Amino acid sequence: LVSFSANVPGANSEARQSFLMKRMTIEGALHKALERSEFFLDYQPIGDPAAGRIVAVEALIRWRRCNGEIVRPDEFIPVAEEAGLISHIDEWVVRRACADLAAMHRAGLTDLRVSVNMAAPEFMRQTLPADLLAVTRAAGIEPEHLCLELTERMMMTQADTIIPVMHALRRQGFRISLDDFGTGYSSLARLKILPITSVKIDRSFIRGLPGDMHDRAIVRAMLELASDMRLAIVAEGVETLEQMEALAELGDPLIQGYLLGKPASPEQIVSAYSRRAWQ
Ligand code: C2E
Ligand code: CA
Ligand code: CA
Ligand code: CA
Repeated sequence: LVSFSANVPGANSEARQSFLMKRMTIEGALHKALERSEFFLDYQPIGDPAAGRIVAVEALIRWRRCNGEIVRPDEFIPVAEEAGLISHIDEWVVRRACADLAAMHRAGLTDLRVSVNMAAPEFMRQTLPADLLAVTRAAGIEPEHLCLELTERMMMTQADTIIPVMHALRRQGFRISLDDFGTGYSSLARLKILPITSVKIDRSFIRGLPGDMHDRAIVRAMLELASDMRLAIVAEGVETLEQMEALAELGDPLIQGYLLGKPASPEQIVSAYSRRAWQ
């Protein structure tokens, strides 16, 4: 979990003053945003290149402020975490995402799954599995259709509390994906003890493909390990055909990125993918 305070510029500087002002403004506005339902979700496709179809979408939160400005999550999620508001936001996200998925199923994308990002406080709650079961039941989708993404960084600091909750989630049938894999400096071997169903290779390793020999070697090692462990693997941030082709050669993971599609509304997802394969 990246601490917001770690990013605070030096004491007494002008930069620090304006940084703190901005933070307080966002924090105050976030409280109101929840009440006024100023949040919405976009969905980004995750595709299986071999089969030529999308298998899942990742829900990505956006905040439309009353002045019409759209704020990206990197700007307000860290503030929400510090302000203790992240649980409220993540609970809203899960409910919205399950309802949207049910609508996408009805519109013809029958096997589609949805992934949601979850911050550490949610994963440390013993009641999370039961709460999520209630949400999926209410929406009329199966637990297998919901994948929870947590970052490798969260696992490093909070593992003792998080791992038992992960086991309980798996027993109910929910999927769990380790996000931003490769950025947290945890060993590949540690993956073995985690009750996860998939791994997402961070886009910093995809960027150098196909040319960069180091990135190729790292990605190949990750793909081999994941397949040995029977884990699904998603390559993030795939932007070019050359990157997709290199990945197909290195081990054929699922792919996510601008090449396949930018985050879009449920309606756009349905109209782009319900009638035809994407290849
Ligand atoms: P993430 O989970 O790694 O999500 C992927 C981010 O990469 C998204 O940015 C997405 O728009 C962007 N992206 C996707 N494909 C490409 C590509 O081909 N090239 C490039 N350059 N970027 C690509 P976004 O939507 O701004 O989200 C940023 C981060 O905010 C997410 O990173 C996630 O950690 C967090 N986040 C988003 N939604 C939620 C949420 O509902 N709850 C929580 N707790 N965190 C969220
Ligand atoms: Ca994610
Ligand atoms: Ca990621
Ligand atoms: Ca990321």
